[in-house]
Amino acid sequence: MTLNPATPRLPAARHTDLLIGGELVQGSGDALPVHDPATGKALLAVPQASTEQVNAAVNAATHAARSWSRTTPATRAALLLALADRIDADAATFARLEADNCGKPYAAALADELPAVSDTFRFFAGAARTQHGSAAGEYLEGHTSFTRRDPVGVVGSIAPWNYPLMMAAWKLAPVLAAGNTSVLKPSEQTPLSTLHLARLLQEIFPPGVTNVVTGLGGTVGDTLIRHPGLHMISLTGSIATGQIVLDAARNGIKRTHLELGGKAPVIIFDDADLNAAVDAIRTFGYYNAGQDCTAACRVYVQADIHDRFLSALQDAVNTIRPGTQDDPDTQMGPLVTAEHHARVAGFVDRARQTPHLEVMTGGHAVPAHGYYHAPTLIAGALQTDEIVQREVFGPVVSVTRFHTPEEAVTWANDSAYGLASSVWTRDVSLAMRVSAELRYGCTWVNTHFMLVNEMPHGGFNSSGYGKDLSTYALEDYTVVRHVMIRH
Ligand code: NAD
Repeated sequence: MTLNPATPRLPAARHTDLLIGGELVQGSGDALPVHDPATGKALLAVPQASTEQVNAAVNAATHAARSWSRTTPATRAALLLALADRIDADAATFARLEADNCGKPYAAALADELPAVSDTFRFFAGAARTQHGSAAGEYLEGHTSFTRRDPVGVVGSIAPWNYPLMMAAWKLAPVLAAGNTSVLKPSEQTPLSTLHLARLLQEIFPPGVTNVVTGLGGTVGDTLIRHPGLHMISLTGSIATGQIVLDAARNGIKRTHLELGGKAPVIIFDDADLNAAVDAIRTFGYYNAGQDCTAACRVYVQADIHDRFLSALQDAVNTIRPGTQDDPDTQMGPLVTAEHHARVAGFVDRARQTPHLEVMTGGHAVPAHGYYHAPTLIAGALQTDEIVQREVFGPVVSVTRFHTPEEAVTWANDSAYGLASSVWTRDVSLAMRVSAELRYGCTWVNTHFMLVNEMPHGGFNSSGYGKDLSTYALEDYTVVRHVMIRH
């Protein structure tokens, strides 16, 4: 794996202020360096929020909730639309920050992620105006009942590092649309785009409605999720952090919304369009360097076509071009940190030492700088192998041979996770039957990875619960109440 040198690029202004109660303020805790994963060099240091600042953010959100919860959906929609417009106008800066801080190809961040982010705010602006109670009726003589959908209150949201701005949008848009106020903490590894967003939030929303604090999960995040002023905790992150959130939620019996990891099975039957399936795995097994909870990473191929398919996939994976953010030929960037790189390389090293596994391509980390890992394909995987069972969250795809649809479904469902899956066949009834039997929040047929704001995203099992996107997310951030009138 060789990398073309980066072309000179203009850095975007990198802001480090937190947003608390409508004010942009520097964190008063210790500063943490954030890195460019393509070089390993520190970009700048971001001061963390102190405990007092986290408390001030929750207090500001509590105060703002009184008036924000009474705004009309039309008022909230107008502000969400204004935010979407500002994000579009500033898309190049946001893409620059995502590229610098995550190592993403700049062009892909600008073309793929930024339009999806502003569309999330636009979708929830419209969705806010569809909220309503129901069930007006006389269930007791002389009494009329109806239901209301009201905001939960103050929501503490914790975001991961793989799509920092998009995850911030998924956390903020439904929360605000439903009339809640928010305290958002981005990942300490990738806070830059969220801190830029904080400046737009400050201009657009009333003080305290949105607050942004930064810092380590175990300290700043822990202070936030254990704050008695929160009514709900929303996390996208690992299973381990999800368990900590559940523990924190015990006191005060807080609502939780957990989007945790994934290990997406891709079932390819012998009548499938093989070119399309190969192309999809080449793209969506390795998109964002595989750091995606829906990555097409666990492939099951029917025995009759297995060898032909594997050879075609190996050829395709060999054409993926890793590179630096501003090289127009770059198709895949580095992993996010040195620690994560070591974790991914550990999975591949252990696979290499497993006699029945064959590392067909990749499997090594090369350049002299940065956290790159070569696109890797592992054949001969058995259901019990860790490469099949555990989330790698890197550019590593395993292939397993199956014989019958029953075997494929059993193995696909044999996972701690349950977020996303795909089925590849030209047989409509087989596709319908298998998608009904898969215990996954999403099943794609003859495609993979496609998300739309109108449809829910969320999992089963250890992938968590609660939905992002769609009006289901709006429901998750509301409470249903009964009002009865005696007349
Ligand atoms: P992580 O759980 O380590 O960190 C996520 C966030 O939680 C960060 O902001 C971190 O600071 C915070 N955090 C960590 N410990 C905390 C604590 N004790 N208290 C409060 N906050 C704490 O996960 P990560 O490594 O940043 O992200 C990768 C994981 O996220 C993967 O497992 C991936 O599958 C998952 N993920 C899931 C989805 C989804 O939609 N289901 C999307 C993206 C990522």
